[in-house]
Amino acid sequence: MPTRTPARPLAALRAEWDAPFLAGPADHAANDERGRLTRELAAAILAADLMTTVGDLFITTAGWSRERGDQANSAGKPGSEQWLAALGTPEHATLTADGRHVNRAAWCKRPQNTAWVRYEYWTAEGCQRHGFVCAGCRRLIQVG
Ligand SMILES: [Zn+2]
Repeated sequence: MPTRTPARPLAALRAEWDAPFLAGPADHAANDERGRLTRELAAAILAADLMTTVGDLFITTAGWSRERGDQANSAGKPGSEQWLAALGTPEHATLTADGRHVNRAAWCKRPQNTAWVRYEYWTAEGCQRHGFVCAGCRRLIQVG
């Protein structure tokens, strides 16, 4: 399977994406360009190896939907070339500041007594969720 090479390096895409974006809602050209940049960055994140740095975060997990997994399982024996080709590039990735995992299924019960770790959850459409997780229990922290 050919490896997709992003047009621009991941670090450059992230730096541009992190820079302040100042455009009004009526500036369609600027907003369209921002959308293209977001999708280009998302594609680069999903194609990157685990533990690749993205700004000050690490790509800690990446995966596929249940539907894509079922398609791959129909295409071939798990681990086979056909199976890997059917899986393709991961559909989602989680990034954290400390390189450890995130439990997005639960809330931390003691957010005042812990260090907070920044996280982001990306799909091909962009950053879908972001916030903080507990450094200890790895559960989400509700901010505000
Ligand atoms: Zn906790």
